Amino acid sequence: MGKICSKCKIEKELGEYHKYKNSKDGVKNICKKCISDNNKKPENKEKINIRNRNWRNENNEKIKEYRKKDYNKNKEKIILKSKEWRLNNSEKYKELSDSYREKNSDLLKIKKKQYRGKNREKLLKLTKKWVVDNYAK
Ligand SMILES: [Zn+2]
Repeated sequence: MGKICSKCKIEKELGEYHKYKNSKDGVKNICKKCISDNNKKPENKEKINIRNRNWRNENNEKIKEYRKKDYNKNKEKIILKSKEWRLNNSEKYKELSDSYREKNSDLLKIKKKQYRGKNREKLLKLTKKWVVDNYAK
């Protein structure tokens, strides 16, 4: 069963209304679309902005303090955790990075060799061509 919006007078599903505890059917009398349209009106936008700004101004100190506390709490937690992790995993960590380096040093060596090999041939060819072009005439 739908409900008729008291603003646009269109019957809409209850899902189209914001929840509102104090009303009989648990939703507001004005549909979501009407509320958002209403909020989009310039004069209302300004009102909302002022309200938000006032709220922020009034609560600025509180917010700052709260954030600081939160940050400090988390910072300590994070530091502790990473310390713990390193202590618990120092062997594993070392192993991992060692094996990674080993694997990659081989790979790097091979790549370097390949690169030098390929380019030596190219260079030789280029040099030969240059010599032929310049002296063999
Ligand atoms: Zn409506």
